[in-house]
Amino acid sequence: MYRTHTCGALSIQEAGKTVTLAGWVQTIRKFGAITFVDLRDRYGITQLLFGEELNRELENNPLGREFVLQVTGTVKERSSKNPQLLTGDIEITVTSFTILNKSVTPPFTIQDDTDGGDDLRMKYRYLDLRRNVVKQNLELRYAVNRAARNYLHENGFMDIETPFLIKSTPEGARDFVVPSRMNEGQFYALPQSPQTFKQLLMVSGYDRYYQVVKCFRDEDLRADRQPEFTQIDCEMSFVEQEDILNMFEGLIKYIFKEVKGISYTDAVERMTWEEAMWQYGNDKPDIRFGMQMANLKFPAYTFPSKTPAIANGLPAGFKVFDEAETVVAIAVPGCSEYSRKQTDELTEWVKRPQIGMKGLAFIKCNADGTYKSSFDKFFTEEQLKAIAGAAQANAGDLILILAGAEERTRKAISELRLEMGKKLGLRKEDEFKLLWVLDFPLFEYSEEDNLTGGQAGRWVARHHPFTSPKPSDIATMISNSPVIKDAANYLAHPYANIKANAYDMVLNGNEIGGGSIRIFQRALQEKMFAALGMSHDEAIHKFGFLLGAFEYGAPPHGGIAFGFDRLCAILGGSESIRDFIAFPKNNSGRDVMLDAPSTIDDKQLDELSIILKDK
Ligand code: ASP
Repeated sequence: MYRTHTCGALSIQEAGKTVTLAGWVQTIRKFGAITFVDLRDRYGITQLLFGEELNRELENNPLGREFVLQVTGTVKERSSKNPQLLTGDIEITVTSFTILNKSVTPPFTIQDDTDGGDDLRMKYRYLDLRRNVVKQNLELRYAVNRAARNYLHENGFMDIETPFLIKSTPEGARDFVVPSRMNEGQFYALPQSPQTFKQLLMVSGYDRYYQVVKCFRDEDLRADRQPEFTQIDCEMSFVEQEDILNMFEGLIKYIFKEVKGISYTDAVERMTWEEAMWQYGNDKPDIRFGMQMANLKFPAYTFPSKTPAIANGLPAGFKVFDEAETVVAIAVPGCSEYSRKQTDELTEWVKRPQIGMKGLAFIKCNADGTYKSSFDKFFTEEQLKAIAGAAQANAGDLILILAGAEERTRKAISELRLEMGKKLGLRKEDEFKLLWVLDFPLFEYSEEDNLTGGQAGRWVARHHPFTSPKPSDIATMISNSPVIKDAANYLAHPYANIKANAYDMVLNGNEIGGGSIRIFQRALQEKMFAALGMSHDEAIHKFGFLLGAFEYGAPPHGGIAFGFDRLCAILGGSESIRDFIAFPKNNSGRDVMLDAPSTIDDKQLDELSIILKDK
């Protein structure tokens, strides 16, 4: 038997017992004729005491960091206890030891605060994984996984595996493809998600399906994206949107409770996509704090049902505002006394290429009720007051105003709001706020894809092509041609206003899940493919199996998928999903430990009948 206990198990209750432990040498401290060793395993650290006699043996067989050591000894109460350690009340007086394996000196210290940089840690990820902080992340991941499975199991969901080698039907992201040796010149694709399979399972009658499953997307990697990532993927039959929202806010609340001990008793807030864009400039707003934006000026086509925040419109006279398509503002609480240096810094911040604004205007709402703005020359005090009213600013607030092109400006104010929220400590790590964003547009305009002759751009599915339109919008979809004749005015096309039966779950400003009620009739699905510019033949070639299945009694169904890695990162209070993946890829999609991707040899290429183009 290698061990009687783990390195995290022993306490004063075992004092006097003879035990055997096995683990890794964390530290070695020599004090004259005796040596202390901290022995580490997954469960904790136990202090070992090598007395004089064994110490001599150690001189012949010296220990080193990360050696694998087995010791037998007696549990003793420690004279100087360490309350930080689980086993801090005791130590083991070693009576015999065996070095099970040696280790070369690790390239970085195996400690919470390691001296290893990112690249080095990824190259030696198996050593990095020995660090307590990384281990805790994986434990959290496992706890989330377990909680999700428990909840779904309790609610009658069945875990059904779906294949990884499937057909390439790119729509959205690019597919990873796998050449088939047995079918020369043909390729499988790795699934971007099990979307069509879970829908087929609904057709087959498995009315509650789930899977914790890998998905593969060959996207350019932005920070915090991985080419392979994990979803908690779910689908249900005979449900309406409301059923799905209830079931899955239940799931997240259950995970909160099980993993973080948090009772999330509040109703999950809901907001339409339009309201989110209107109030926050963003379809995944962080609602831990207010600071909603005031829409001072915006193009009529964007929010047909809305009016500008100032009754008579934004006063004219300031060229920057006059010439801008969109002018939006937020009132930052308690910051009216910002110095010139601070407002200059904010101006630089919005001018950074990632934000891309030309400048920042501001109004200080002084405590005495007066106003001071960066554009005083052009506006009267009364006019500044009107803007302050629109932005719902109080005395003591600083109003920040951005002006420019609609999309960019809205995005920029949303980023600025988050930045100010962070500066003011309003984005508290231990506060969790869930939000459903509903009623997304069904289509998005894409000017790149020009599929059908004479068409200016085309529609792409905002979620995916299997998402059903709102029932009230189906008629609009069926009775209008999808062809966009006038690219500049695509928003005037009836398709631009069609809303989807789609929903996203947002946690603290992060999209953690998204899904939809699906189309389940062949005719509507065909119409959808056509709307996306797919010819009949193409639709049959790519999705004939699904269209066919819809003819054999497909039930109404819908589902959702949660980004498992991201959910773990947020629950773990981290910005990076990589910290929660045992063997992640780096920002260029490489596994630096395996050195993958890599070339394959000519024989392999030959077998696949692949000839590489000369570089
Ligand atoms: N398959 C979808 C996705 O990966 C989620 C869903 O609609 O259930 O985003």
